[in-house]
Amino acid sequence: MEKFEEWEDALDKIDWSDVLDEVDGQLLENLANELRFRTYEALKVSSLHLGDGYHITHLANGKWAFWNEQNYVREDIRFFDTEQHFLHFALQLFRLNETKAKELVQLLQKTPQLKICVVCNHHFNPNDPARKDLGIEGIYVDEEKSEGECCSPQCAVEAVLHEMKDA
Ligand SMILES: [Zn+2]
Repeated sequence: MEKFEEWEDALDKIDWSDVLDEVDGQLLENLANELRFRTYEALKVSSLHLGDGYHITHLANGKWAFWNEQNYVREDIRFFDTEQHFLHFALQLFRLNETKAKELVQLLQKTPQLKICVVCNHHFNPNDPARKDLGIEGIYVDEEKSEGECCSPQCAVEAVLHEMKDA
């Protein structure tokens, strides 16, 4: 009997809200991995927030990924081949009037198409202002041909080290 009470006591001491937060956080990291982002934070800052937890991301392959940070577990990511396909869907889902629809078109046009890093295979936003601030605009494995763009100085260094190993 004593054992059982100890166990109960231990359970009482767990802060369940912390545990649940961690689970949610892990699910969002999974979502980010599914879309080939290094972290959920990276996914979020590279996407357009549409309200109610909905986001749209313009992937490197040209597709648009539509996802919800609150319903991710129940609602799968939806992919759209073109901006028009997504627009058509969004008009119905959000019941947008003409003004709102035009606003959405403008927002989508401003949403940058992401690129995939040739080294780590993660998405990155080539227009990210933070990249410009850090002076890491356009890092290429082949600088002459501007081919094989990297997401970060770390990945560029890794590419060089790899080449040295191969040589
Ligand atoms: Zn990278």
